[in-house]
Amino acid sequence: MSLAGQLYRLQQLDLELQENQQELDKVANQLSDNKALVAAESRIASQKEHLEDAKKRQKSSEWELEDLQEKIRQIDSRLYGGKTKDPKELVNLEKEVKGLKSQVRPKEDALLGFMSQIEEMEAGAKTTAGELERLKEEWEQRQQTLRPRKSEIETVLADLKGERNRLAEQISSEAISIYQRISLTMGQAVVKVERGRCLGCHITVATSQWQKVRAGDLIQCNNCSRILYLE
Ligand SMILES: [Zn+2]
Repeated sequence: MSLAGQLYRLQQLDLELQENQQELDKVANQLSDNKALVAAESRIASQKEHLEDAKKRQKSSEWELEDLQEKIRQIDSRLYGGKTKDPKELVNLEKEVKGLKSQVRPKEDALLGFMSQIEEMEAGAKTTAGELERLKEEWEQRQQTLRPRKSEIETVLADLKGERNRLAEQISSEAISIYQRISLTMGQAVVKVERGRCLGCHITVATSQWQKVRAGDLIQCNNCSRILYLE
């Protein structure tokens, strides 16, 4: 293989290495991307916390209502039990019980409000739990598909690196540094000559140059400086 041919092959290997590395990065990102899962987990945790709070509020609202009803019962029994005879006291008790009874309805309404709020929150938490379950399954599935894909690419990369190293050892360091310098500025450093034209810049290669390329010399295009390669 001519020197230009070796460099051309080196370029192919570099390109394949780059593509596989990009693919590996992509797969590794997909494997570690658990943002949706973490978000759903934190959502469900905060929903549970709010639910606990709401249940506590419901409980204390129930207790308040029971207390109130107990007080009403006690006063009612004094009013109608027959033990209390003093008319002034009876009037006071009636006033008191009337005030307490007027609080029953608002407290019952508040309790009902808490209950329907809790029902709504429980439905919300259930939806999130379902979503979390779905995300976990998706995650597991993705791991199962992507893990073998990752090691597959890693094997390909190791093979390519091996081949590149073996090839690079056969090429002079001078030629390698020319190749690398052109790669940095032009991207593609080695280009074919087809129908007398450089495929890098499409300018006709001078016959003398072309002959040197054919003889196996390392020749750069006069116009774009890329290394010329004849198959
Ligand atoms: Zn050119």
